[in-house]
Amino acid sequence: MRPLIILFLAVLVAFLFARFADDAPTVETPTIDPDPVEASDPPPVEEEEETPPVVEEEEPPVPPAPTLPSDWHFAPGNLIDGTSTTRGDSGVTDPSVVSPTMRFPVEDGPAFPNSQIFGKGGGGYASGSWPGVAGSEKDAENFDYPWQDNYCEVRFGYDSELCPGGEAHRGQDIRPKTCENAVHWAVAPEDGHVSHIGSISINIFGAETGYIYKYLHVQDPLPAGITIGAPVTKGQRIARISDRLKANSRATTVHLHFEIWGGAEINGVNTGVTALPPYSSLVESYLDLTEANPDQIDPVEPPELLSQCTEPQWP
Ligand SMILES: [Zn+2]
Repeated sequence: MRPLIILFLAVLVAFLFARFADDAPTVETPTIDPDPVEASDPPPVEEEEETPPVVEEEEPPVPPAPTLPSDWHFAPGNLIDGTSTTRGDSGVTDPSVVSPTMRFPVEDGPAFPNSQIFGKGGGGYASGSWPGVAGSEKDAENFDYPWQDNYCEVRFGYDSELCPGGEAHRGQDIRPKTCENAVHWAVAPEDGHVSHIGSISINIFGAETGYIYKYLHVQDPLPAGITIGAPVTKGQRIARISDRLKANSRATTVHLHFEIWGGAEINGVNTGVTALPPYSSLVESYLDLTEANPDQIDPVEPPELLSQCTEPQWP
């Protein structure tokens, strides 16, 4: 009997072992990576976290570059009503730019070509036959756009074949940016030399064009070196702008009277040597000045606030 029991127990043990061996956890044996290059593969890319939407910060507003107003000048030949020698409002309307490379004759802008005797506070002409305008030279309107031609404005005693009536102003009056006396500079319009100096005037001969540029109402003393025959370069300071009408008389407004003398074809006619209409050349040179230096058209302190301004003593 005993061997049978042992045999039975052995079979039982064998059965149980086989029965539970299937459920036993399997221990994985570590395997050696056969390819060491794989070790240097990049690590798995982590899924990117969703980034919150970028809120664009508002840029601070950039101040616009100063620009000239769209209506900054009237057309050439458009005078103030009734101010030509024949009491009309028309001068030389031919827009020819007689001196296309000219430098604007006032050093700094802004500057305002317009009538002095028919502007606010102007004295008029010929003892009231052409009445002036009430107000003050310091009126802000005198130091503002639009520009206005006054080449054919009434004057007697000065031949001007291009203007109605045959006599006229022959130049353009230009206010500097304020009515301060002897502060603002007139400058040479091109390379050349000083060809004349008078008690309140200076002329520049332009080497490039052969024109003579005449500057009136300038103040002594002239800068050092500005003597008859002295060479000048375009843009060089030649005189300070004043309100002198004669050597010692402050009888006009602070302004530069500017003329261009030479020959050019105006209205289809070769004029010979004469005082040419300067207005369109001033427009062109002012655009050059303000494009190169936009700050030249920045607004300025209203002239009423400037204690240096003096009222002209009209004769
Ligand atoms: Zn003048």
